Amino acid sequence: MILCTTIDELRAYIRAYRTEHPDALVGLVPTMGYLHEGHASLIRRSAAECGLTVVSLFVNPLQFGPGEDFDRYPRDPERDAALSAAAGADVLFMPSVEEMYPRASATRVLVSGVTERLCGASRPGHFDGVGTVVSKLFHIVLPDRAYFGMKDAQQVAVIVTMTEDLNFPIEIVPCETVREADGLAMSSRNVYLSEQERREAVVLSQALSRADGWLREGLDASETTARVREHIGSAPLADIDYVDVLRFPELTEPAPGERLAPGQRWIAAVAVRFGRTRLIDNRIFSGDEVAAHV
Ligand code: AMP
Repeated sequence: MILCTTIDELRAYIRAYRTEHPDALVGLVPTMGYLHEGHASLIRRSAAECGLTVVSLFVNPLQFGPGEDFDRYPRDPERDAALSAAAGADVLFMPSVEEMYPRASATRVLVSGVTERLCGASRPGHFDGVGTVVSKLFHIVLPDRAYFGMKDAQQVAVIVTMTEDLNFPIEIVPCETVREADGLAMSSRNVYLSEQERREAVVLSQALSRADGWLREGLDASETTARVREHIGSAPLADIDYVDVLRFPELTEPAPGERLAPGQRWIAAVAVRFGRTRLIDNRIFSGDEVAAHV
């Protein structure tokens, strides 16, 4: 694996690779580092499908709001390099903030609609930062495929929308959420959790699994939301930011009384604070599976 810190050296390397391997696919796995098994699963998938896998590691200041954890976001570039190489990355792109934003950039990529709810509502400007940095990475790397985790399902919806709207010739590959043994979705932010917070954090995935049963029983979106809230609220340290049940990937609200029907997919998504740590998780339910289980 080679390490690139500048856009010029990365582009030169990829250009040379493409000249030598004109038919090979180039895969991109964008990350903010402090890598774990969730990231490794994306890198392994790209390495299995593409001739060249580029992992980017960049904590993007543009997607953090004032008072969020940009400054204290966990960082360990040496460990990340070892993990990326072990998972099959060929290139690790680790630019500085100055390399990515040499001046205060005047341009933003804003995606509307799918950003109205969930993290788009609770973290204003977050997805503008995501859309902008991912557009930059797409232009820098010019990959054939880009791999994103469904742990950040709204981010996948935003990137798919942006890719279609702006005609990026890139296939977006959504990848399943990797979880700890007790169900907690892996996240770089899990290291912030105290022992008690870590124990209680399991309520997120538990509540989302139960939502599956509640939707199968015929509860509508708001009834299911209320049950999920109640379950998460049973953890003394959990401070709910949002709980929502929406259509996926549109991220619009089902009508009152509407049931999850064949041909539809709904998402239950949650954001919960434990102390200063904000965790998110989601689960997607298919109406076809509901029908099959009735
Ligand atoms: P991050 O470093 O948190 O920005 O994440 C980089 C990529 O890894 C994003 O596409 C995330 O959705 C994905 N990712 C993060 N956690 C997980 C997980 N537990 N399982 C699968 N993918 C993940």
